[in-house]
Amino acid sequence: MGKPTGFMEIEKVDRGYKPVSDRISNYKEFVIPLSKEETVKQAARCMDCGVPYCQSGCPVNNQIPDWNDLVYSSDWKGALENLHSTNNFPEFTGKICPAPCESSCTLNLYEEPVSIKTIECAIVDRGFEEGWIKPQKINKKTGKKVAVIGAGPAGLSCAQQLIRGGHEVTVYEKNNKAGGLLRYGIPDFKLEKTIIDRRIKQIEGEGVTFSYGITVGKDISIDQLKNQYDAIVMSGGSEYPRDLPVEGRDLEGIHFAMDFLPQQNKRVSAEKYSTSTKEILATDKDVVVIGGGDTGSDCIGTSIRQGANSVTQLEIMPIPPEQEDKALTWPNWPLKLRTSSSQSEGALRDFSVMTTSVSGKNGRLTQINCIKVDHKMKPIPKSEFSLKADLILLAMGFVHPVHEGMLKNANTTLDKRGNVEANTFDYKTSEDKIFTAGDMRRGQSLVVWAIREGRQCASSVDLFLTGERNLPV
Ligand SMILES: Cc1cc2nc3c(=O)[nH]c(=O)nc-3n(C[C@H](O)[C@H](O)[C@H](O)COP(=O)(O)OP(=O)(O)OC[C@H]3O[C@@H](n4cnc5c(N)ncnc54)[C@H](O)[C@@H]3O)c2cc1C
Ligand code: SF4
Repeated sequence: MGKPTGFMEIEKVDRGYKPVSDRISNYKEFVIPLSKEETVKQAARCMDCGVPYCQSGCPVNNQIPDWNDLVYSSDWKGALENLHSTNNFPEFTGKICPAPCESSCTLNLYEEPVSIKTIECAIVDRGFEEGWIKPQKINKKTGKKVAVIGAGPAGLSCAQQLIRGGHEVTVYEKNNKAGGLLRYGIPDFKLEKTIIDRRIKQIEGEGVTFSYGITVGKDISIDQLKNQYDAIVMSGGSEYPRDLPVEGRDLEGIHFAMDFLPQQNKRVSAEKYSTSTKEILATDKDVVVIGGGDTGSDCIGTSIRQGANSVTQLEIMPIPPEQEDKALTWPNWPLKLRTSSSQSEGALRDFSVMTTSVSGKNGRLTQINCIKVDHKMKPIPKSEFSLKADLILLAMGFVHPVHEGMLKNANTTLDKRGNVEANTFDYKTSEDKIFTAGDMRRGQSLVVWAIREGRQCASSVDLFLTGERNLPV
């Protein structure tokens, strides 16, 4: 523990944002990092309490008090090594993790929590600045071959761990570039894609082969992969979106978030997108976003940058309390009203709203019709209202992975929710040699959980191939 009295003497400071007027004119990241000196001071607020609840609150169990201490003693390289021992990609989580660790921080009980996510990001940013993050030399070779399907955070962490275990790894990805939802879902203003590219360079440098533009189950079958590889990891995400089955759904102007967001991300990085789907733009439109999560927020920020006339976000759940009762909720993730950076850029929000129908003219959407609901989601009589809408973006989550193609081909058992069935001890599916990890197994979740599952799955594959667990989880 660097400074025993730090938490009493030092005020919490965290990263700020560029003003809204500056940031909405482009798609660049707008978070302003803390100076190195301020980051060191903030690390000194860590109490190094006997039981580090932050560490168990963090899905990858980052050793937070240890790296806070190392940062406080200006041993940034040591902090980076420690951070990488549990998290392959702290530059992603340091930017887009909701930071359940901070809710679990003991200081959060009576005070503001340590700025954990900011310190995590500063450590890895420093690592890249200083050139400390390079491909690791791997001398071990097991002679075993593994195919990883899907280059999202689960597939990437799994592939990196497996190559470090001495296995030969090929990643099959249907898109033209790696990253999964990090690249094609999450907008550039939250995560610029060069951040993914530099990590992919490291992974390639360690020997992982990427095979892009290949849809497993269509361009190559699972049986073909089974013949070529000793093990297969399916980490294809949870891509089947929840729909809005109401009258008027087939009007032009209603789109899934994941038809809208990837187009903009591809525009930013000048990547061609399929011409079979129409260009979807919010410019000069009255946009209604249905769904209150991360995806909804990303639709808002993107619509505002495209020059929407207005953006309204509708959420079926009731408005949560502004402040949690910490004595009841700590160290767990509390339900409370959160306002994302995108929501604060000018979106109107309404809660307890159910869509009843959509209407339009000449086959095009013009209006959304809604009703207020109570806490049991029962419609409240005489609370109907309508909003003008030229574009509706459906961001109500994902039901399960796509079953057609790869999963039907693999013939693996599904769980009750339609995800691929496997436990978190061995990540084995019902089919021999086939493992699964990430959203494909657990359902739609978070990047940090995908990283954890990829790491743990790699360790299980290693055990399966070598008879020993040599990889850390
Ligand atoms: C818009 C949006 C915003 C989000 N924002 C956040 C956030 O701010 N913070 C956060 O923590 N989480 C966020 N999430 C959730 C997070 O992105 C996911 O939980 C995470 O990416 C899951 O990782 P994954 O590797 O399991 O799957 P994915 O990231 O979905 O990657 C799966 C990959 O598999 C590929 N694939 C699928 N099928 C095949 C096939 N048959 N053949 C070859 N390749 C295939 C896909 O193309 C994709 O590249 C967001 C999700 C969305 C949709
Ligand atoms: S990965 Fe997320 S939960 Fe873990 S330390 Fe970083 S911000 Fe916190």
